[in-house]
Amino acid sequence: MATLELDAATAVASLDIFDHLRDEGFGELHFRVDPISGLNAIIAIHSTKRGPALGGCRFVHYDSSQAAITDAMRLAKGMSYKAAVCGLPLGGGKAVILKPAKIADRPALFRAFGRFVQDLGGRYITALDSGTQLTDMDIAAEVTPYVASKTHMGQNNDDGDPAPYTAKGTFRGLEAIVKHSLKRSDLKGLRVAIQGVGAVGYPLAKALHEAGASLWVADVNTEATARCEKEFGAKVVDFHEIHRVDCDILSPCALGATLNDHTIPEIQAKVIAGCANNQLAEDRHGQMLKDLKIAYAPDFVINAGGLIHAATQYLHHSDAKAAQHIENIYDAIYTICERAERLNQPTNIIANQLAEERLK
Ligand code: NAD
Repeated sequence: MATLELDAATAVASLDIFDHLRDEGFGELHFRVDPISGLNAIIAIHSTKRGPALGGCRFVHYDSSQAAITDAMRLAKGMSYKAAVCGLPLGGGKAVILKPAKIADRPALFRAFGRFVQDLGGRYITALDSGTQLTDMDIAAEVTPYVASKTHMGQNNDDGDPAPYTAKGTFRGLEAIVKHSLKRSDLKGLRVAIQGVGAVGYPLAKALHEAGASLWVADVNTEATARCEKEFGAKVVDFHEIHRVDCDILSPCALGATLNDHTIPEIQAKVIAGCANNQLAEDRHGQMLKDLKIAYAPDFVINAGGLIHAATQYLHHSDAKAAQHIENIYDAIYTICERAERLNQPTNIIANQLAEERLK
């Protein structure tokens, strides 16, 4: 089998890669080229201090290998932080497979990826991410046991979809920030604007409706909004208008970077709590929200339910243990809000500090 391992320094000589890895607190960066299947893949392992590094495998197009490395490292570090703040016995890692223009044999590609994972001996555990499907993970699992999402994990009778867990965690995180910022123990009568009612946004909308909240929803998928209108009496708003709705809570559940220079000055809500990844266009937008007295639930903490799901499946945790980890999201969000208030800092900065403390 003509498989070639490249060392990081050779592959990215233009980057001062070792300094970069050290600065970002990284342990390992692995490359795999498999000419037969066409696999070009990277696995970044940020930390294994708390346990094996669990993180999804992205299968998307990158403009350059440098862009793929940057993405893998950024995402792996995010996974370490997420696991640490939620008290999971896991480190953080991420895989990226550079998507070719034409895929000759998808199963062969994921089998080669599975061998790459296997060769790391369990320090990295793979799972779903953008562009990968459960069937891809099933193929990888033919050659390695280090796979956390596949069709039949044999746990809790679920189908491997993390979204219901993410919705549960987001709901509890939202309750925590409401408790701290609005001094409310219930959500009755609160007005929530949800941006994106897909796999996570829809069950979140359902839970909020059941808790007595009034809903506004926006989505490019008109069937998704119509369902919320019919089932929860939600008011449907244009996607470009949803952040401007006069409401108590804005819940970004679709895309990243929706909290930016243009949207933040127009936000009416006093609380932002949603599941979308990378909600702040830049870190400085956390400070901008704070200056406007808008409480922000850091995304990587509030949306950790998906990781909790993968950990539950892979580590064969009981339902009770999974529920406890979801509760950790409530505690982490509340702790972050308290500390941010006490230290007069934005919550996104405090969330990173908390994760770094727990990684030491
Ligand atoms: P999804 O694709 O099921 O839902 C996203 C919804 O947003 C869809 O209904 C889609 O139509 C809508 N949308 C997308 N682009 C839009 C646009 N330009 N304008 C208006 N609506 C748009 O995804 P999801 O699984 O619900 O995830 C939502 C967010 O949460 C993503 O940012 C994802 O990365 C993050 N997240 C998801 C999970 C999970 O377990 N699924 C875990 C952690 C984080």
